[in-house]
Amino acid sequence: MYGPPPPRRDQNDGIPKPKSFKEVFPYIFKVIKGFFSRYFYIFKLVWEASPLILIVMMLATIFNGTFPVIGAKIASELINEIVDAYNNASNLMKPGAGMWEIIQIVFRDTHIDDIIIIELIYLILKSIINNCYNAFVNISGEKVANHIKVKIITKAKTIDIAQFDRPEFYEKFENASREATFRPIQIISSTFTMLSNLISMISFIVVLAVLNPWAPIIVIVISLPAAIIRFIYGRKNFLYMRRRSKDRRQMEYYSQIMTNKDISKEVRLFNLSDTFIGKFKATFKKYFKGLKSLIVRENAWHIVISIATALVNAALFLYVAARVIEDPQRFTVGDYSFYASSLSSIITCVGAIVASTATVYQGTLFIDNVIEFNKLQPQIVPLEMPALDVKRHIAHTIEFKNVSFSYPGTDKLVLKNVSFTLDKGTTTVLVGLNGAGKTTIIKLLTRLYDPTDGVILLDGEDIRKYDTTQLYKMFGTIFQDFGRYAVSVEENIYYGDIEKGLNEEDVISAATKSGASDYIEKLDDKYKTKLIRFFDEDATDLSIGQWQKLSVARAFYSDSDILILDEPTASLDALAEQQIFKQFEELTENKTSVFVSHRLSSATTADKIIVLEYGQIIEEGSHKALMEAKGKYYELFTTQAKRYIDNSQAK
Ligand code: ADP
Repeated sequence: MYGPPPPRRDQNDGIPKPKSFKEVFPYIFKVIKGFFSRYFYIFKLVWEASPLILIVMMLATIFNGTFPVIGAKIASELINEIVDAYNNASNLMKPGAGMWEIIQIVFRDTHIDDIIIIELIYLILKSIINNCYNAFVNISGEKVANHIKVKIITKAKTIDIAQFDRPEFYEKFENASREATFRPIQIISSTFTMLSNLISMISFIVVLAVLNPWAPIIVIVISLPAAIIRFIYGRKNFLYMRRRSKDRRQMEYYSQIMTNKDISKEVRLFNLSDTFIGKFKATFKKYFKGLKSLIVRENAWHIVISIATALVNAALFLYVAARVIEDPQRFTVGDYSFYASSLSSIITCVGAIVASTATVYQGTLFIDNVIEFNKLQPQIVPLEMPALDVKRHIAHTIEFKNVSFSYPGTDKLVLKNVSFTLDKGTTTVLVGLNGAGKTTIIKLLTRLYDPTDGVILLDGEDIRKYDTTQLYKMFGTIFQDFGRYAVSVEENIYYGDIEKGLNEEDVISAATKSGASDYIEKLDDKYKTKLIRFFDEDATDLSIGQWQKLSVARAFYSDSDILILDEPTASLDALAEQQIFKQFEELTENKTSVFVSHRLSSATTADKIIVLEYGQIIEEGSHKALMEAKGKYYELFTTQAKRYIDNSQAK
C-alpha cells in the first residue's frame, strides 16, 4: 500500500526548471509563491512559540532603523560646533590655557557640552537597546527551536512504523531536526535586520538627496550583482546540503557506533574502531569537497564584485567632497561628515539588506525540510469514519484471511497467502526458523503495518475499521527487541499501562509473575533503582535475562485483552521460559494470547501451534496432532528434544 519510493526530489526544490521561454514567468511566479508560503509558515511557527517575539522585534526594528541617522546627525552637529569653537578659539581663551580652563570655556561659551550629553544619552540608549535585543533574540531562539523540536517529535509520534523502514524518512527527519534549531529565528531576525536597514537606508537617502538623488541609486544598482550571487549560491548550497543528507547521516551513524554502549564492546574486540573512523573521514572528505568548492566559487565572485564596487564607491566619495567644497557658503565641514557618513551608511545598509535577504531566502528553502516532515501523513488510520470502537475486557477472535505482505519499498513477499484463526481465549504459538515471518505476523496483527493483500478480522470486522489508539491499547505486546528505558525499575514496569498510572502493588505483582522480583529485591533501591548508567552514576545495569524478565513484567502489568510475546524470553533458560509461559496461560484464561518461540518445549501446552516456513503456513494444530502427523513440527521437536537429552547426558 506504500508503493515504491517516490522519485528523489533532491535535484531541485520541487519546482521543475523551465524548458522554454514561455515557462520562465510561471516558474518565477512559482518560486516567489513558494518563497512566501514558506515565509509565512515561519512567522506562524514563531507566533505559535510566542507572539511577543514578533512584537518586540518589530519595535526594535524601528529603533535600530532610525538610530544610525540620529547618530550621524549628532556627530555632524558636534563637528560644526567644534569647528566654530576652533575658529573662535582666539576670542575665547588666552594662549597657553590649561586643560581645566579649556573645559570650563567649553561648558560656558559653546554648545559642545550639550551635544556631548545628547551623544552620551544616545550611546547609552543604543547600547541598552542593542544588548536587550541580543539577549531577547538568543532567548527567543531557544524558545522557538524548542517549540519546533517538540512539534517534530510530536509528529514522529503519529508517523507509521512503516516509515521507520525507509531511508527517505530518516533523511527528512535529519533535515528537519538540523534546521529546526536555528533557521526560524535566524529568518525572523534577518527579516527585521533587513527592515531596520531599509529604514536607515531610506533616511540616509533622504539626507543625501539634498546633494544628489542619483548617488544612492548608483549604490543600490552596483550592489545587485553581489545580491544575485548570494541568491544563486544560497540555493546551490541548499540543494547540495539536501543531496548530501545521506553523508551527514552516515557520519552521525559512524560516530554513534563509536560511543554506543551496546555496540562499543564488539567494536573494541573486533578492532573495528579505526575502520569506522576511516569511514567517517572518507565520508566527510566526499561531503566536504563539494561544499568547499561551493564556498570558494561564491567568494571568488564576491572578491571580483567587491573590487568593482569599491571603485564606484570611491568615485562617489570624491563626488561628495567635490560638491561640498564647491559651495562653501552652503555646506560646512559638519555637513561633509554627515553626507559622507550617509553615503557610507547607505553602502553598509545595502550590503546588510542583500545579506539578510539572501539569508532569509536560503532559510526559507531549508525550512522546507521542516514543512515536508510535518506534512508526512499516517497511512495507518481507520478505514472509514466514524471508526469502530474496540470492545474491551472480552475474549477476542482474530482471523487472517489470505494475507500476503511485503515490507514498504520492497517487492519480496515475506508472507504469502496466510490464513489462520486465533480463537477466543486460546493460546497460539508461532513456530518456524529465523526469517520465516513470525514477527511480521505480529506486526500485522497489531496493525503496525497493513497487509499488502488479504484482510485481518478482529471479532469479524476488518481490523482497519477500528480506532487505532483503542486497538493499540488492547494489545499487550513484548517484542524481541523490547524497550529498555533509562528510568527506574518500577517505571519500566508501569509503562505497560501508562493510563492506569503507577500502582506499586500491581508493579510488585507483575514483577513476581515474571520472576523479576527475585533480583529486584536485591537491588539497592529495589523498585526505585534507576536503570542504565546513562544519566545517573548510581544507576544500575541489568543482564539481558534480567531485562527480559522486566519486559515480561511490563506485559503482565498491562491491561490488555490480547497478550503477545515475541521471543522476549530467548535469553532465559528453558525452565524460566516455560514458567513464564505457564504463568501467561494461567493468567490469560479467557484472554487470547500469542507466543513466538524457537523452543518447542514451550509450545506443548498451547491450544494451537502454527508452523511457518518461508512466509507460508505449512502445519497447524495441537502439539499432539502435529506430533502424530510426523511432519515438519515433529522433525523440529524431535531434533530439539534429542539435543536436550544429549546435552543433559553429556553433563
Ligand atoms: P521471524 O520473526 O520469523 O524470524 P521476520 O518476520 O522478522 O521473521 O522476517 C521475515 C522476513 O521479513 C525476513 O526475510 C526479513 O528479512 C524480512 N524483514 C523483516 N523486517 C523487515 C523490514 N523492516 N523491512 C524489510 N524486510 C524485513
